[in-house]
Amino acid sequence: MIGIIGAMAVEVEGLKKEIQGLKITKISGMEFNEGTLNGVPVVVAVCGIGKVFAAVCAQTMILKFGVEKVINTGVAGTLVKELGVGDIAVATAVCQHDIDTSGLGDPVGMVSGLNQVYFKTDKALEELALEAVKDDDIKCMSGVIATGDQFMSNPVRKALIHETFEAIAVEMEGGAIGQVCTINNVPFLVIRVISDGADDNALMDYSVFVKQAAEESISVVKGILASL
Ligand code: SAH
Repeated sequence: MIGIIGAMAVEVEGLKKEIQGLKITKISGMEFNEGTLNGVPVVVAVCGIGKVFAAVCAQTMILKFGVEKVINTGVAGTLVKELGVGDIAVATAVCQHDIDTSGLGDPVGMVSGLNQVYFKTDKALEELALEAVKDDDIKCMSGVIATGDQFMSNPVRKALIHETFEAIAVEMEGGAIGQVCTINNVPFLVIRVISDGADDNALMDYSVFVKQAAEESISVVKGILASL
């Protein structure tokens, strides 16, 4: 079974409505929508915004639904000029820009205990995602996606995250899902379509483009499922 997580309803609605043999289970206030998509067994959930909800959702999918892989789909702010609104970031790894014990000499972003900054995504899923982007007008880039419990709308902080982690996009859930999947040895992927520039105009761009970007990310996930 494949677990598919979106932070917001708009990020998974297009998948949920196509599930065959739908069975809904509510755990920790989250709805887990089980069934098949394109003949592939899936469980689809809206986790809510931020790292804690995302971690709870991923762990629940692993423990209660026995998912073999997890895909996080949704929207993000861009950190690079190569990616604009509507373009796609596929994570090669995720990190958490807001975990910081550097005052003790650790690297910024290091998760103590695991002692790593980056959590690598599944190469096979990444390749399927890249193949699933069929429109030549849409730019698609693989790279690090940085996660933190902040909506990024500050150009100075944006530049710092890009420089510190060589990250191409910023969002609020992927890093937590990556950490949970890693400690459980479950392969995962994060796909994000750019909704905003993570800068002074982020609020305006996000409001206008979130729906379109979320739906575009869903179409990449559908492409992956079709080739599984
Ligand atoms: N109160 C709002 C919060 C949305 S936060 C609500 O409930 O709808 C923005 C969401 O989009 C998060 O899930 C995050 O992963 C993603 N996102 C898009 N642009 C972002 C940016 N510039 N910085 C951080 N996250 C961003």
